[in-house]
Amino acid sequence: MQNIVILGGGTAGWIAASGLARVLLKNGSKKFSIKLIESDEIGTIGVGEATIPSILEFIQFLNIDQLDFVKNTDATFKLGLQFNDWLEIGHSYFHPFGTLGPEVDNKPLFQHWMREKLNGSKLELMDLSIASLLAKNNKFLAQNPQNQICNDNFGYALHFDAALVAKYLKDYALQIGVEHINSKVGGIKKDEKNNICALITIENKEINGDFFIDCSGFRSIILGEALETKYEDWSHYLPCDSALAVQTDEKNDLNPYTNSTARDAGWTWQIPLRTRMGNGYVYSSEFVKDDDALNTLLNCVKGNKITEPRKIKFKAGAREVSWKNNCLALGLSSGFLEPLESTSIHLVISNLYRFLDLFPSGDNWQILQQKFNKAAKQELEEIRDFIILHYCKTQRQDTKFWQYCKNMQIPQSLAQKIEFFEANGKISTDYYDLFKPTSWVSVLIGMGVNFNTYDALIDAIKPEFSQKILQNFTQIIKQGANSSPYHDAILKNL
Ligand SMILES: Cc1cc2nc3c(=O)[nH]c(=O)nc-3n(C[C@H](O)[C@H](O)[C@H](O)COP(=O)(O)OP(=O)(O)OC[C@H]3O[C@@H](n4cnc5c(N)ncnc54)[C@H](O)[C@@H]3O)c2cc1C
Repeated sequence: MQNIVILGGGTAGWIAASGLARVLLKNGSKKFSIKLIESDEIGTIGVGEATIPSILEFIQFLNIDQLDFVKNTDATFKLGLQFNDWLEIGHSYFHPFGTLGPEVDNKPLFQHWMREKLNGSKLELMDLSIASLLAKNNKFLAQNPQNQICNDNFGYALHFDAALVAKYLKDYALQIGVEHINSKVGGIKKDEKNNICALITIENKEINGDFFIDCSGFRSIILGEALETKYEDWSHYLPCDSALAVQTDEKNDLNPYTNSTARDAGWTWQIPLRTRMGNGYVYSSEFVKDDDALNTLLNCVKGNKITEPRKIKFKAGAREVSWKNNCLALGLSSGFLEPLESTSIHLVISNLYRFLDLFPSGDNWQILQQKFNKAAKQELEEIRDFIILHYCKTQRQDTKFWQYCKNMQIPQSLAQKIEFFEANGKISTDYYDLFKPTSWVSVLIGMGVNFNTYDALIDAIKPEFSQKILQNFTQIIKQGANSSPYHDAILKNL
């Protein structure tokens, strides 16, 4: 495998191009070539604006200066996600990045908290999160070497302008030697083994390659259309199938978190950038008409519209496999989960790393494909379950949509996770899981799932010890949060 062709220049395409170029071209070897073909005429989806912390690792992987990236992509910092009205109207909870404290005697601090809570403590779970304390006051951590405890338990990600990110990564990739072709692909040439030989442009030019990365968006031109890979439909678990997105000129409300508010038939997002606000309504067209959804969205946005509202249709689910023959699909062409936990860009990155780990050196690709597809599916299914948890534990019954969500059948894997927590007070996670116990416990408790017990081994530790640790830790992070600067002040200083 030497000549790689990427179809699509959206976020997925340029992440693939820059990541592959970093590994295959940066050191000056002429062994590999990477071409990216995209069509200006078709354009990109352009709405992925909220991320999770893995984006920062990717920036580091590319050896890009984080501050330069932030400055050039209109970015703001993100400490987690605020969920409003999901459990019931008027109720809010926070899903923070970073930890809920260190492990104490090999047990997560939140297990010590659970014991205290069941014994009547007034301490809230979010008192253990530095990110949550900062977010409450619109602050951001000033990393201070003297406050290592705050630094160690802190985590963050970014909100950014998707078009500027694609441009930034494009400049990076072109500089290292990726070849860029602006043309529309109108056909695909395959050999007798059903491998892709070339993409054919509408000008009838053949773009040959040994391996093809399909980043063509929802149409999934190579994996879906040419290789006829079936789509597994998860819309019975995740009934939202539409989104309306609009940008407004609001730039004063620079919350360091993504705001997600449950609405009659879905939820709206607010993503603050330095020069504008990204807004959208993700909804189920089964339960609300498009015009009514548009009114809901326009009634809740802050500031004046600077773009016309754009409607996007989708179906929750995934292609049966992402790597088939000599094609790997990344991004929307491989599947879609609604952006409730900002996971799509992460999945592009994690599948790219996975592909680099398994980059073929011999001819037997089947074994690599199997390993890739199994791990990718496992990661995706865990994310799917995590998103469903936000819906299925609602207490809301005020609309048909919420009645459906409250009563719908959920995957067995999720039902087991919930039962495990309710019965044992523990979180069961697997190797490929993106969301760690900190995330699961935040959303389980945020969505009102009760725990009646905690990890039994906690009882081997004296309660006074737990109390002291909890008191010391929460005091230290509270002080760290109080002495940190405001998020908007940090951004102004950029
Ligand atoms: C409403 C909504 C909100 C979202 N919010 C988030 C979020 O907050 N966080 C997050 O991580 N993700 C989010 N996502 C997902 C995110 O937008 C995508 O994962 C990301 O943008 C990657 O898209 P893509 O590159 O796969 O596809 P696209 O952006 O659609 O790019 C497809 C590319 O293929 C090219 N192409 C297509 N057909 C042809 C052809 N025939 N010839 C040549 N070129 C062609 C197009 O020109 C384009 O360059 C959201 C998605 C939706 C729908």
